[in-house]
Amino acid sequence: APPPGTNPLALDAPAAGSGAYAGARTFEELPLSAATRAALKQAKFTQLTAIQRAALPHALAGRDVLGAAKTGSGKTLCFLIPGGWSQISWGPAHSSGSGGARGPLVELLFRRRWGKLDGLGALVLTPTRELAMQIFDELVKVGRRHEISAGLLIGGKKVSEEATRVASLNVLIATPGRLLQHMDETPGFDASGLQMLVLDEADRILDLGFAATLDAIIANLPRARQTLLFSATQTKSVRDLARLSLDHPDNHMVGPQQ
Ligand code: ADP
Ligand code: MG
Repeated sequence: APPPGTNPLALDAPAAGSGAYAGARTFEELPLSAATRAALKQAKFTQLTAIQRAALPHALAGRDVLGAAKTGSGKTLCFLIPGGWSQISWGPAHSSGSGGARGPLVELLFRRRWGKLDGLGALVLTPTRELAMQIFDELVKVGRRHEISAGLLIGGKKVSEEATRVASLNVLIATPGRLLQHMDETPGFDASGLQMLVLDEADRILDLGFAATLDAIIANLPRARQTLLFSATQTKSVRDLARLSLDHPDNHMVGPQQ
């Protein structure tokens, strides 16, 4: 990682430290599994968008990312393709051994055979139910060839109904209020093996008044995780959240802010 205080990755700068993948323009050039490649092809995704070129090499290398790009620029795939499954080497007991291989989300599920009994591996927080459902649809597209169990925690159902499934899901896409409710009330809820936290549309989450809820959620999550924070705008409150949730966010800031 670059030394603290430098930000070689700002905006359109080449993705320093991301090795051979820094200049990738297409999904084919990225280190992805055959299953993910095939799913991307099937969904007719070929060229990377600007934010994907900036963010994916870092996210795939297991780094934290603070990404800012306008709505519609393709931020969702920046967090759905990678995944924090990579940072901790997991053995039978999920021991946090010396850094295992690093790789993408759906990739690591596959490589590490993350399965039902392994519980929650990735958590995506997003401001609204509608956005959560859109993310879920996109995950179905890119994850369809992997054995991932994913679910939505977005309200609209009884907490107790959602609670029966929560314990067995590998990926949760949730709104902050509902997620915190499960953390507090659902006996089987266990985030202790969490590999990746995604904060999507972080500026809107904060605008909706969820700052304290986010703080409470983050305080309950394991620190040895990968965190990807995406936002359409870079406000002071987003930067404060980045400081709270990311590991050295200055070193992982990517644009472009177009
Ligand atoms: P954002 O979160 O930045 O607002 P989304 O991730 O929702 O943007 O993407 C906007 C649209 O662009 C979606 O319909 C998505 O499927 C599509 N998209 C994302 N990445 C690509 C790509 N590399 N090639 C073609 N379409 C893409
Ligand atoms: Mg989005």
